[in-house]
Amino acid sequence: MPNTISVTPLWMQNVQMPPPSAQPLPNHVDVLVVGAGYTGLSAARETAAAGRSTLVLDAGDLGAGCSSRNGGQVAYSIKPTFNSLKAKFGQDLAFRICREGLDAMTYLRSLANQGDDCGWRDDGCFFGAHTAGHFRQMARDAENQPRGLEQKISVVPRAEQHGEIASDFYHGGCVYHDDASVDPTRLLLSLLRRAQESGARVADRCPVSAIQSTGGGFEALTPRGIVRARQVLLATNGYSGPLSPWHRRRVIPIGSYQIATEPLGANRVRALIPRGRNIVDSRRVVVYYRPSADGERIIFGGRAALAEKDPLACVPRLRQMMARIFPQLKSVTVSHAWVGWVAYTFDTLPHLGRHDGIYYCMGYCGQGVPLAPHFGRRIGQQMLGLEEGRTALDGLPFPSRPYYHGRPWFLAPSVFAYRLIDAIGI
Ligand SMILES: Cc1cc2nc3c(=O)[nH]c(=O)nc-3n(C[C@H](O)[C@H](O)[C@H](O)COP(=O)(O)OP(=O)(O)OC[C@H]3O[C@@H](n4cnc5c(N)ncnc54)[C@H](O)[C@@H]3O)c2cc1C
Repeated sequence: MPNTISVTPLWMQNVQMPPPSAQPLPNHVDVLVVGAGYTGLSAARETAAAGRSTLVLDAGDLGAGCSSRNGGQVAYSIKPTFNSLKAKFGQDLAFRICREGLDAMTYLRSLANQGDDCGWRDDGCFFGAHTAGHFRQMARDAENQPRGLEQKISVVPRAEQHGEIASDFYHGGCVYHDDASVDPTRLLLSLLRRAQESGARVADRCPVSAIQSTGGGFEALTPRGIVRARQVLLATNGYSGPLSPWHRRRVIPIGSYQIATEPLGANRVRALIPRGRNIVDSRRVVVYYRPSADGERIIFGGRAALAEKDPLACVPRLRQMMARIFPQLKSVTVSHAWVGWVAYTFDTLPHLGRHDGIYYCMGYCGQGVPLAPHFGRRIGQQMLGLEEGRTALDGLPFPSRPYYHGRPWFLAPSVFAYRLIDAIGI
């Protein structure tokens, strides 16, 4: 393997990231947000725009979390089906939870189309069926969408699949026409600009190592001193560490790995994915891929390891996974490989609310591109006491499991079992 593969996400290659912040921190703020990804910046924009002095701190450089390094796929992102939510919560709440997923897409579309160029593309998504049974199920689901939650979906039989993808790997699939793609880093920078223009201060390389309640507020310990805040929001998602053991017991950090091919040329990429759509498939161990924002490369991602690994160590497996779908790319050069930590939850729903007085918003199960800006905005509004901040997820229990303290020991056996199921083709 050539040692020239960059571990910086491709998206960050041609953008000017802001220099690390050096200013002293304020001693007091109204609102302290921990985590400067889509969630934290979206919340900060709301609180700052309402006149609350707002400080956002991030442990790493800006973009250290998922929000600079994801796949940029924008899809309806509530994982449990309407029927499973209905069985658990009843028809009305199930409907409202699913609506949040659609509202999140609408909100992101409106954000991405105002002001900054975030590389937004309304190209839709092809959802490939891994087995003939999956295809039949997909076609049934497309026919029987719950009323009021309909998405525009076309069923693509296997015989017509080359119109979507130059591969025989799938048994047909469905096109989700309302899905879109975005350049994740440019979206992050756009949310940063909005938060800062509303008056929020953002400081990176400044981990919060402890938060203590002081009765009327909180004290946060950082390497640059103590910050006192009336309100605190944890927006740490898959990077939720020892700072809050309660949250750490409720999110499961899972590495998601991506590679970018060398520039292949727009014609070659178009030949592989003729309509330029995002592609995902129905396997348990999900893969997701798409043309790069400039249409010159393929960006391919998925769960490439049983246990977490260096992104470079995952390159051979990702290449192999890509070549099973596109044998044409068997010997293509990979130029970038990177990893980020998504946050799963035990009920596969996002969660937002307040615990011990500290606000939180996290757990997008790998689908926070639309969900994090939406729920980040909502939690910011909740911090302001605004009615419009209410969501269908408010008050839902945020489950943990016995013996789980933040290290997902069950991940390797689960991924192994899922790979077996995928290989058998169930
Ligand atoms: C490879 C990959 C591909 C993905 N693809 C997609 C996709 O195509 N579509 C989709 O919808 N979603 C995708 N996702 C998921 C999506 O990127 C995330 O759900 C979303 O970015 C979460 O945003 P966030 O702001 O909540 O968290 P993050 O952006 O992860 O930010 C959390 C931040 O908290 C900071 N932090 C943690 N602890 C502290 C502390 N103690 N003090 C200060 N700061 C702290 C971290 O440094 C980090 O920057 C993908 C993720 C990855 C990794």
